[in-house]
Amino acid sequence: MSRIVVVGAGLGGLAAALRLQGAGHEVTVVEQREKPGGRAYQLTDQGYTWDMGPSLITMPWVLEDTFAAGGLDLRSEVVLRELDPLYRIFWAGEERHFDFVPDRDRLRAEVARFSEKDAARLDDFLAALKPIYEEGIVAAGRRPFLSFADFAKLTPSMVRLGAVLPLSRFVARFFEHERVREAFSFHSLFIGGDPYRVPAIYGALVYLQVLDGGWYTEGGVYSLVEAMARTLDVRCGEGVAAIEQSGGRVTGVRLTGGGRIAADVVVSNADVLRAHELLGRRAPLRKLVPTMSAFLLYLGTDRTFDKLLHHTLLVGGGYRDFIRQVTRGDGVPETYSTYVHAPSRTEPAMAANGGDSIYALLPVPNLRGGGIDWAREADGLRDAVVEDFETTFGLTGLDAAVTVEHRMTPHDFQTELGAMHGNAFAVEPTLHQSAYFRQPNRDRRVRGMYYVGGGTHPGAGIPGVLLSAEVTANLVLADVGGRAAVPA
Ligand SMILES: Cc1cc2nc3c(=O)[nH]c(=O)nc-3n(C[C@H](O)[C@H](O)[C@H](O)COP(=O)(O)OP(=O)(O)OC[C@H]3O[C@@H](n4cnc5c(N)ncnc54)[C@H](O)[C@@H]3O)c2cc1C
Repeated sequence: MSRIVVVGAGLGGLAAALRLQGAGHEVTVVEQREKPGGRAYQLTDQGYTWDMGPSLITMPWVLEDTFAAGGLDLRSEVVLRELDPLYRIFWAGEERHFDFVPDRDRLRAEVARFSEKDAARLDDFLAALKPIYEEGIVAAGRRPFLSFADFAKLTPSMVRLGAVLPLSRFVARFFEHERVREAFSFHSLFIGGDPYRVPAIYGALVYLQVLDGGWYTEGGVYSLVEAMARTLDVRCGEGVAAIEQSGGRVTGVRLTGGGRIAADVVVSNADVLRAHELLGRRAPLRKLVPTMSAFLLYLGTDRTFDKLLHHTLLVGGGYRDFIRQVTRGDGVPETYSTYVHAPSRTEPAMAANGGDSIYALLPVPNLRGGGIDWAREADGLRDAVVEDFETTFGLTGLDAAVTVEHRMTPHDFQTELGAMHGNAFAVEPTLHQSAYFRQPNRDRRVRGMYYVGGGTHPGAGIPGVLLSAEVTANLVLADVGGRAAVPA
């Protein structure tokens, strides 16, 4: 049995801890914040409950596997509800909306409302994504890419399947209507990727939604965090200041308060772009580019807004310029494309006063360019976004209905989560930062040192970080042994 410390209680850290504890090791999770969850934090105020980050659950079998590896039964721990539709998309100035439904025939009918010709291509599109999903997401997402040779083996099939093309070009091979193209390619934005630049492998995010649906857990995503943390030794409120090493292997962690925890294995769930600071190295482990950030509003209202479904996307004008600006610019965007979460549609208890606990996510540039003074801009941006919701998207009376309100800016990502440049989704999911080119799950120089979470392979998103926990835990178990050891 090894003594293992996991640095950070994000979903990836908790999942790695569950797997390693389930394999018989003694695991302690050290979290700098007051509660576990990381980006999947929860905010409650005056009877309103908000998931602060992830809200849509996909690939539920990955959660089942994670819980099972920790000796837990997912469906006894949380109440899962499938959403239908998964989400609705509105475009500024247009009456028509698009509902993403998990049933192929109904989805085809949705596409047909925009273009009959495109509707006839839906099956071809999904058929093209199937092998990309199976080989590029599931098979590749569950194994480590420690050498270039591992990566080289995957490349020919990905090239053959078109998975290395820019996602927007791949989608355009099947669909002509601009709205249909947008509806089938925006998903990468929610792991920090520009649909016009990420490889088409991320098109498989559409396929997996058709295959396994989109889910909600009662109490929100935070109920998953609580269920995972319940059986673990999670110590909150004090961070790890340094990872100690001797003779080329880890020996423990030093806490910010001065205490020490001895360990044979350390798994870091902290931002990989800053992991070198914990290891006392001067340069980042890899020169990786972080994703954009996000500006988030958490609004408790005293009435509901019927236009909103549980998940709604409000796409503003100039969508492509908006994406370019938030991923590569450094100013406040001029139009707003947002994602809105209104969970009281599914579970009224998530809001007080018969109202909504709305959360709105606006992608914004990270802090790297330094172009936005958030202390000055945040109030004005909040008002502009709420006004846009009212005037462009028909959420009339929203401002007047807000009784309680919170927000999160890129600065909060930086200070609260330790995210480099305030990134919202870790490392940008481009081809040059994927698999072998991402931060490896096992350190190349220090024995006993591993990484898990959105900045490692395979990447961000709830399924991504849970799969990274599987890859990392299997590497640890292959190195130190354990009941559930699977050769990596
Ligand atoms: C606004 C938003 C919406 C999203 N929506 C979705 C969605 O709907 N569906 C989906 O699947 N995904 C979504 N995602 C992505 C998903 O939330 C993340 O990829 C995932 O939660 C990240 O998990 P992680 O393991 O990388 O850990 P993180 O959440 O990054 O947590 C890392 C933890 O480490 C702690 N830490 C850092 N340094 C130290 C230290 N030195 N000592 C101790 N602790 C430390 C931090 O405090 C933090 O708690 C969303 C993300 C955001 C930001």
